[in-house]
Amino acid sequence: MQNIKFHNNVEMPLVGLGVYKIEDEMMDQVIESAYANGYRHFDTAQMYHNEKSLGRACKRLNVPREELLITTKIDNLNQGYEKTLKSFKQSCQDLQVDYVDQLLIHWPGQNPQRTAETWKAFEKLYEERLVRVIGLSNFTLKHIAIIEKTGNIKPMSNQIERNPLITQSELIPALQTKNIVPIAWAPLRRGNFLSDVIIKIAEKYNKTPAQIVLRWNIESNVIVIPRSKNPIRQSENMEIFDFELTESEIEAINALHTGERTSFDPVTFDF
Ligand code: NAD
Repeated sequence: MQNIKFHNNVEMPLVGLGVYKIEDEMMDQVIESAYANGYRHFDTAQMYHNEKSLGRACKRLNVPREELLITTKIDNLNQGYEKTLKSFKQSCQDLQVDYVDQLLIHWPGQNPQRTAETWKAFEKLYEERLVRVIGLSNFTLKHIAIIEKTGNIKPMSNQIERNPLITQSELIPALQTKNIVPIAWAPLRRGNFLSDVIIKIAEKYNKTPAQIVLRWNIESNVIVIPRSKNPIRQSENMEIFDFELTESEIEAINALHTGERTSFDPVTFDF
């Protein structure tokens, strides 16, 4: 497994497991099989209402805390300075951890003052070593500019929707120029990612279409956090380090872009 370094030198594996919609009764076995398949990074959020189950499942692994990386995200309703600090404490309790590896602002919304205050709270948590990596999610360059103007610490990551239909061809290089690591959510387009182009490339490498899409992400130094409860797919989604796509294959996948999202557009989404 290869790692990526954030600008503060903390490292994170290129492949992690998303746990959105993983139900309480499934979580223990999902995390157990993911760990056995080599996953060390687990991505949750206050909004998923499964921090407690993830915390319990990680404890059950009975491995040193430093072996695992846990990401959570501050819900929009919990943004603002005091509310961020308070809800972070609750997240730590639910996750049964003393610190979180990565903390993200889940959605930017359209309130610059709220964004700036939330980031101040993130900086405090970072300085108190309660969080190892502070970052963003669904931020456009315009939203990032608010933090660049008002913050003291530069964001380390930005988790955005990225798959062959929404390639983020401008945002990703812009983030990388700013030393902000891009992380792809819904890298498999929530299971709806098939196209003839991808199937043909998969046949050539004797890989599955999912492996091609994930490989396409990591070749641009984008972290992926595909979700799967199925141990066979969990393993499949990890087996992407033994082949390399050609420039023209990458271009063919890029050309599938339509801009279609599976969720809200952060340019207008406000709540
Ligand atoms: P995803 O793109 O990871 O797709 C998950 C779906 O793909 C599941 O239905 C699964 O059965 C299927 N799948 C998994 N492996 C497969 C394989 N090898 N072959 C075929 N199908 C396969 O979708 P997601 O869960 O929405 O996104 C991944 C993670 O990103 C989430 O779990 C969550 O942690 C995070 N996320 C973040 C945000 C955000 O706003 N920051 C939004 C959505 C999701």
